[in-house]
Amino acid sequence: DLAGLPLHAAERVQGDPIIIAGDALADTPEVMADFIDIFITGDGEAPLTQLVELVRRMKKQGATRDAIIEQAALTIPSVYAPKFYQPQYNADGTFANLSVLKEGVPASVHRSHLTSMSESPAIPSPLVPLSEGVHERVVMEIMRGCPNACRFCQAGATRLPVRFRSVDDIVDQARAALASTGYKEISLLSLSTSDYPRLDELIDRLNAEFGPQHVSISLPSLRVGSQLTVLPKLTSGVRKGGLTIAAEAGSDRLRRAIRKNITEEDMIAGVRAAYEAGWRSVKVYFMAGLPGETPEDIDEIYYLCRRLSDARRDIDGQRGAITASVSWFVPKPHTPMQWSPMREADYFFGVRRQLMDLAGRGTVTFKFHRIERSVLEGVLCRGDRRVGAAIEAAWRNGARMDSWDEHFRYANWTAAFTQTGIDPAIYAHREFPTNQPLPWSHITCFRDETFLEKQYAEMQEVLNEKE
Ligand code: SF4
Repeated sequence: DLAGLPLHAAERVQGDPIIIAGDALADTPEVMADFIDIFITGDGEAPLTQLVELVRRMKKQGATRDAIIEQAALTIPSVYAPKFYQPQYNADGTFANLSVLKEGVPASVHRSHLTSMSESPAIPSPLVPLSEGVHERVVMEIMRGCPNACRFCQAGATRLPVRFRSVDDIVDQARAALASTGYKEISLLSLSTSDYPRLDELIDRLNAEFGPQHVSISLPSLRVGSQLTVLPKLTSGVRKGGLTIAAEAGSDRLRRAIRKNITEEDMIAGVRAAYEAGWRSVKVYFMAGLPGETPEDIDEIYYLCRRLSDARRDIDGQRGAITASVSWFVPKPHTPMQWSPMREADYFFGVRRQLMDLAGRGTVTFKFHRIERSVLEGVLCRGDRRVGAAIEAAWRNGARMDSWDEHFRYANWTAAFTQTGIDPAIYAHREFPTNQPLPWSHITCFRDETFLEKQYAEMQEVLNEKE
């Protein structure tokens, strides 16, 4: 709109640019299908290069914009061009399937993935802004994908297989980036950096070469268990951040159900090691609203935090300060929990009250995600093509930059659902049948739906176990 282009892909004509989108949005593209000409699914490096070469070649030959979009959909396996697919719906209003309108266009679009991280070299001279930036550091992607396979996690499920950048490459690329930027910090990024198999060796090499230049190393988060050996090495750097633990659920039973393989023992040991190494703040992430969750599981969120806080007593006799960040479970496409219903907003308000009442008696500080935004996320991430009309209506109602609390107005969205006749409950709060196509079934990932369904059944088995 700001560029003066027609919003809808169907209204764009010769001379208008081809609008492309990628990353997580492309894994569940239907809600934005009305607005986007081409989605690139999966790792962008290879298909984006192919697309650029295709556009350049066809433009030289005088091809039309429509012909370029068609050729991209026909020849680049990870390209999804929505105009060649037509959604069908059941009589009860639920999604039925997606039919292919053009011969030769694939019924399933395969998410692209690099075979090796060497196909994605780090940028040797990253741009350095003239004004102060939020993150003034060299960012190194050391691994793509995550080996942990937590059942709720979309990033873990879609970004497979796991690929590692070699220690030599990381050190070489960090050297070049530090020299060209002057930054004094290296951040080692990935979905789960402490699962990088040679993390110890990598940190030793980086400390040995860049430590004398007062360059510190930061990790976005650490997983208790493997983190224990690297904590003291990280504290030798200039910057000492807080320890983050993704517990996700208060009870071992729920953690087993969602396949979050972390025990309370691991967490206590991790917190103790952090305090011993001089770390001061500990943040624990939880998710509430999981299938099979009981009021006792919610209590356990608080009591686990208390036990983590008490773990500091063995070190210096004081209780540790724990910040617990609680988000609300949203069933994510392409995960084993994609079929689960999401709880309704009232349930989350009740959980928040329950935890705040408990926190009043202790030193644990709770922070909560905005409940309405999570419900909205539940609608948008499992939505089909009809939800695009509600997105447009919300935007026309004034919705902008909704990730910022100060800009988020849920009323823009509730009005939009009413205006467009969209029932948010059928997307967010319904259990989806496992034997029917889903609005994102045509985007295929490394693991197929049979695998996901088996995992979903295994989760139910854990939840049905007798205490
Ligand atoms: S939640 Fe974290 S550890 Fe689990 S699969 Fe996702 S990225 Fe990996």
